[in-house]
Amino acid sequence: MTSLFKSKKLFFLCGSQHLYGASALKQVENNTQEIVSSLNESPHLPFSVVFKKVLTTPEEITQCCAELSFDDSCIGVIMWMHTFSPAKMWINGLKKLDKPLCHLHTQFNAEIPWSTIDMDFMNLNQSAHGDREFAHILTRMEIPRKTVVGHWAQESVLKQIGSWSRSAAGWDEMQRLKVARIGDNMRQVAVTEGDKVAAQIQLGFSVDAFDPNDIVAQIEGLSPAEINYLLAEYNETYEVEPKLAKGGGQHPALIEAAKIELGIQKFLDEGGYKAFTTNFENLGSLTQLPGIAVQRLMKKGYGFAAEGDWKTAALLRTLKVMGLGLDGGTSFMEDYTYHFETNKSLVLGSHMLEICPSIAAEQVQCEIHPLSIGGKADPVRLVFNAKTGSGINASLVDMGSGFRMLVNEIVSVPIPKELPRLPVARVLLEVKPNFTEAIHSWLSAGGAHHTVFSLDTNSEQLKDFCHMAGIECLVIN
Ligand code: MN
Repeated sequence: MTSLFKSKKLFFLCGSQHLYGASALKQVENNTQEIVSSLNESPHLPFSVVFKKVLTTPEEITQCCAELSFDDSCIGVIMWMHTFSPAKMWINGLKKLDKPLCHLHTQFNAEIPWSTIDMDFMNLNQSAHGDREFAHILTRMEIPRKTVVGHWAQESVLKQIGSWSRSAAGWDEMQRLKVARIGDNMRQVAVTEGDKVAAQIQLGFSVDAFDPNDIVAQIEGLSPAEINYLLAEYNETYEVEPKLAKGGGQHPALIEAAKIELGIQKFLDEGGYKAFTTNFENLGSLTQLPGIAVQRLMKKGYGFAAEGDWKTAALLRTLKVMGLGLDGGTSFMEDYTYHFETNKSLVLGSHMLEICPSIAAEQVQCEIHPLSIGGKADPVRLVFNAKTGSGINASLVDMGSGFRMLVNEIVSVPIPKELPRLPVARVLLEVKPNFTEAIHSWLSAGGAHHTVFSLDTNSEQLKDFCHMAGIECLVIN
């Protein structure tokens, strides 16, 4: 996944006009180059920034916006008016721009040189009104964008651009994302359903249904060597309980789990699917509900959600991309069980099996336990407590009238006791602003029980993302 950092870029456009003469435009270009260099040196920007050019005519602007819209490497465009750049010149170009836009409202010079300032200086450093003209046309044309205000060298400005660029990378990913739905929706469940055609029109990703036996066909083609290689990796990475380990009575179940992991991954990779769902009610001749398999595939960056929940699977892949290179972790999650206390009530998050070990705080245990539903063999799973820290729970729901994103700011807190009889990975959450208000808001807004839990992304990034997508975003904090 980290190759994304190299293949994806931001582009920087500077607006001006010919009124000031060639030497002023040269100065504008040099200054812009200096700003772009500073962006590229900042540790807060995960993607490189390419200075496209100083744009001074409607033809140039239109050509440039059209090119960027078709450029696969471009995840977003930063625009800034160093001088005045009459905004009617931008209308046709902006109509063609199909990439997230960040309006950087800055000024090359930081402080006013009180004793030497003259009209030449003012004409060169006039973003204050050049950017107002530009923002006017953006607002009039109802073009969604991120507006970042401040001097370009300030850390807060660099952080905001970097944060927005992660949302842009997520949006870019969603435009090409394919979700494989292995087995349909869990019967009778409402929130995991939705309009897949509307999702593709609005959000860009597509969803294709497959039979679980398509995975079985992949499993039949596996070689003993690749299965053994994966079993060795399990052994090295996790504390495998003795009955599952080589020589243990239930070792065949671990072999089966490894086959399922390899089978699913081959299936996904052959079809170019970066996200998938399963359904415990519809497993075909798969011997166990995929547990460790989907847990490890999530850690590798694939989106996943259980019970046919294609929206959450797509959202998980998107948030994995948004959090690229960070070490907090992002997982499929379900609000499961409450802990009521007078002062501070908490939510225990978990799932039947499928929590991503990217959020594991500690040594991960590889265990086997019966699953009381589904009527299949006991599934192998990874068990652990989650890391502590601030993050979000996000839910993408189809309201019929449109898609809605719900984001609850949360804190993952330490689990105070041992949980010797709970055979699944878990996280204990304090929800903001407080338990009653957060849960009340979530219920009122129609949020799902499935979420994407992330310690690597924040509500601001989800808001920016929804702005790009043109969907509602409700933040509970
Ligand atoms: Mn569920």
